[in-house]
Amino acid sequence: RAAFLADPQAGAAVKAADRAHVFHSWSAQGLIDPLAVAGAEGSYFWDYDGNRYLDFTSGLVYTNIGYQHPKVVAAIQEQAGKLATFAPAFAVEPRSEAARLIAERTPGDLDKIFFTNGGAEAVENAVRMARLHTGRTKVLSAYRSYHGGTATAINITGDPRRWASDSGTAGVVHFWAPFLYRSPFYSTTESEECARALTHLEDTIAFEGPGTIAAIILETIPGTAGIMMPPPGYLAGVREICDRYGIVFVLDEVMAGFGRTGTWFAAEHFGVVPDLITFAKGVNSGYVPLGGVAISAEIAATFDKRPYPGGLTYSGHPLACAAAVATIQVMEEEKVVENAAAIGENVLGPGLRELAERHPSVGEVRGTGVFWALELVRDRETREPLVPYNATGEANAAMAAFGAACKKNGLWPFVNMNRTHAVPACNVSEAEAKEGLAALDAALSTADEWVA
Ligand code: PLP
Repeated sequence: RAAFLADPQAGAAVKAADRAHVFHSWSAQGLIDPLAVAGAEGSYFWDYDGNRYLDFTSGLVYTNIGYQHPKVVAAIQEQAGKLATFAPAFAVEPRSEAARLIAERTPGDLDKIFFTNGGAEAVENAVRMARLHTGRTKVLSAYRSYHGGTATAINITGDPRRWASDSGTAGVVHFWAPFLYRSPFYSTTESEECARALTHLEDTIAFEGPGTIAAIILETIPGTAGIMMPPPGYLAGVREICDRYGIVFVLDEVMAGFGRTGTWFAAEHFGVVPDLITFAKGVNSGYVPLGGVAISAEIAATFDKRPYPGGLTYSGHPLACAAAVATIQVMEEEKVVENAAAIGENVLGPGLRELAERHPSVGEVRGTGVFWALELVRDRETREPLVPYNATGEANAAMAAFGAACKKNGLWPFVNMNRTHAVPACNVSEAEAKEGLAALDAALSTADEWVA
């Protein structure tokens, strides 16, 4: 493990330049106080004051093999020495190999890979492919979803908090996806929720006009909005509806893909093959920006004789692709996907459920693999969230106190609204997962003080 020596002076300089010149994403610039990070390795990172944190966020849920994996760092260095960059129109070794390895792991006949620089850009291109393939324009997406921060992706995102930037792309229609704990359909069982959600989707399609809809896009397991497991049969039902109306089915696996749920792609849990899969994040643990779209044979054939109108200067960058090849090799060699499944099954799942039994602030535990959410409530009966939607300042005090308590106990938590997500690296060890559970246990005692 790399030594970390406290160097508060260096940290202060990093912080001062950041506050003077870095304009941070999704933030009120005058209200933030970003931690100056000195280094990271595996599941941990540390600051300049000598504090070390267990990262239960995997960055933004993307460092699936942890920080500074030596094999991936070496592969990037080696590629930089050989051929640091080359334009997308050429066939180069790391790009060819990354595409082959990804295509081998995607379900069904999704065997062509269009590379992008990240997740939002993958969503933009999936929508463009669907529109050109069908000759239709509308896109249906779910409320309580996140699909990215660019023009179309932000409007497809089902979260009003995000729309302020760029409201109202023509042709984007939102519908309700199933979520039994806060059911939009007032259901009381999973099967009722599934049936009602599918009827609602059919009704939406009938009113919009099936012949106008290019695509339905869903996160296989919605992540940012709360790690909500779709009920059995829902995704298969959506697949069947898409087939019936000639609608392209896009599964967004930017967050859920590449091992996070204990399988290569989350679609495997549900036995569903979509027409397009968007991916990013875990494909190379974010060591160099990379994303993409995995494309079915039928949609790929649309562009056999007709040019596909899309791409960026750095699409499929050799350094990013070399990192993807090394990441996938590491995941195979070190059985990282199997580890994520086992940690979910044997440590995080049982551990989080046990916390829920003892802490009245926990309303629900849900997830799989290394992809878990705890929903914190003021009242278990009414399910009133511990803080109101999009709360800031005093109104958010309970979650702020919970987050501070995690950090005091050496855990860097993912906190969003009234939820905390336990989303460590897919190669997190059993001991590290247990360390995280112990810190959460202590922090939940703080949250319990806000229970009504
Ligand atoms: N889609 C999903 C499901 C995501 O979770 C995210 C990011 O969190 C995105 C798309 C956007 O990815 P990026 O931030 O790489 O553009």
